[in-house]
Amino acid sequence: MDNCIFCKIIRKEIPCNKIYEDENILAFNDINPAAPVHFLLIPKLHIDSLTDIQDNHQSLLGKMLLLAPNLAKEQGCEDGFRTIINTGRVGGQEVLHLHFHIIGGRERLPAMIHQG
Ligand code: 5GP
Ligand code: ZN
Repeated sequence: MDNCIFCKIIRKEIPCNKIYEDENILAFNDINPAAPVHFLLIPKLHIDSLTDIQDNHQSLLGKMLLLAPNLAKEQGCEDGFRTIINTGRVGGQEVLHLHFHIIGGRERLPAMIHQG
């Protein structure tokens, strides 16, 4: 994926503030944080979005989910955090490389969905 910004980060063509890396997964701070802790967890494999996941991605996605609370705690989320996966146009996804936003800090986050 030549022009994908997150693939460029994976290939180290664009710098990032990395917080975790292994063979299959990278986590780095969001360039425009919405809260004191805001990092992105991405697979190194380019998958456009959650609508494109396949059966053979199960263990990769499971690993990402298992990592999320450990990294969140390491980054200072002592008492919970929010996980967001924007998907497609309606979901407001701007970067078409699957990513989990992990957002938190010390204070309670504002309600995400306002009803009524
Ligand atoms: P989306 O709207 O696709 O769910 O979120 C994309 C996120 O990627 C945004 O929060 C944006 O700030 C972040 N982002 C976009 N480009 C870069 C970049 O070059 N570096 C980093 N660290 N984050 C980026
Ligand atoms: Zn990509």
